[in-house]
Formats: sequence, structure tokens, C-alpha cells
Amino acid sequence: MKHSIRKGMLLSALVGAFLFTSGCTAGMAQQPEHKQIAQQQEVKAAPEPTCTPEVGGKGIAAVEEPEGPLAPSGKSVDYYETVEPTYVDGVLLVNKEYALPRDYGDGEDPTAYQALLKLQRAARWAGYSMDLMSGYRSFETQEELYNDYVAVDGVEKADTYSAWPGHSEHQTGLAFDVGWVDLQFADTPAGRWLANHAHEYGFIIRYPEGKEAITGYQYEPWHIRYLGVELATKVHQSGLCLEEYLGLV
Ligand SMILES: [Zn+2]
Repeated sequence: MKHSIRKGMLLSALVGAFLFTSGCTAGMAQQPEHKQIAQQQEVKAAPEPTCTPEVGGKGIAAVEEPEGPLAPSGKSVDYYETVEPTYVDGVLLVNKEYALPRDYGDGEDPTAYQALLKLQRAARWAGYSMDLMSGYRSFETQEELYNDYVAVDGVEKADTYSAWPGHSEHQTGLAFDVGWVDLQFADTPAGRWLANHAHEYGFIIRYPEGKEAITGYQYEPWHIRYLGVELATKVHQSGLCLEEYLGLV
């Protein structure tokens, strides 16, 4: 797969500035102790200019310039060099708040991949094809994808379905897109089979319908995340999305 690093720093900075107030944070607004909310409130609480502009003068306080280039997430580009992966109760959590370092991962997790093969075999026995459409993605690949989506759909729409580089679950090696990457997949027999049986092989539908405000993503009936059979079954039976199940919401 071709890897190229885009130099869209200016775009990234603009995008990042805009994004800071969108995404999954909306669904976390009731959580005062939440880190992201704390950051958001800081932004909202930014002091208004206190001095009165004089006629023809430039009395308004200068807007603070960011110190360095920003990533689409609004975090500095350098953040992704040093950020540590986040584990909650032993579960690697990646979402719009929690990121992976740039150099994290080098392919599919072997255990998750074996589980995927089992799931695919079972689906085939049931009469459905469950082809792997996308597995591990490096930071650079995600960066390229995201930039392409933004170019086509604009930031606001792209953010509903494409992760910022460093924030994609595909970089964990634990997430796969299977079947058909289309919302209509949910209403096909194969899509229904996946929703009902993925947990038996250790997977959850990571971005469920109705949880968009929490996960930050539209319903993705094709995106499965490996958690192991025990935990995946508990999450499935709870009816909660992963952030809720882990008590983050
Ligand atoms: Zn996916």
C-alpha cells in the first residue's frame, strides 16, 4: 500500500480549529469530570477582549497564534509523537479523544485476525460472505484517507465517518470493516447476521445506531472491533456502546 505524508499543515490547522467543538464531545457534555469537556470549557471560557477598541484603533486583544502546526484533531502535530495508548480496564480505547502515537502498530493483531477468520467461516456456513474490506491502517494511510475525504465532502461531513489520523481504530490492528461498507448493509441478511453473531467470535459493532453522539461516528454496521468473546458478549448484551460500557459517559 502506498504511504505518503501530506503536507497539508495549513488545512490541518484550520480543520483542527474548527473541529475542537464538534464530534463525540457533544454526547459527553453531562460529564463534568471528563477531560475533554474540561478542555472544551476552557475554550468556551476564553476571555473576551476586555479593552474597548478606540475609534480607528486596534485596541482588541490579539488572537493567540498556535505555537506549531495542528493536526485535524486540534492537537499539535507533535502530540502524536509522544502520546501513550489509553487502556481502560485493560481495553485499548481509541476514539476522537484518545489517540495512538504515530508509530503505533504494524498490522492486524494475530488473535483478532484468527477470530476474524472464524467469524468469516461461520458466516459462510450460514450462507453469507463476509469479506474483509479494510483491516490495519497506519497513521500515514489514515492521514491520506482523511484528507481525501475532506477534499470531497468537507470537514464536517468527513468527521462523521472518517477518523482523524492517530484516532482510527484501524490503527490498533483490532478493527475490521467486513461485508459491505454501506449503511444499507445493516438491512441485509448478512448485516443482520453480523449484528447478531459478531460477539460470539469476540467482536462488537463498534459504532452502533443511536450512539452517534457518544462515539462521534455515524452508524457503521460493517465496522467490528475485537474485544475477546467474554467482553464482546457482555458489551453486546448491555446494549451500550464501548464508551458507555467502560463508564466514560
Ligand atoms: Zn472501519
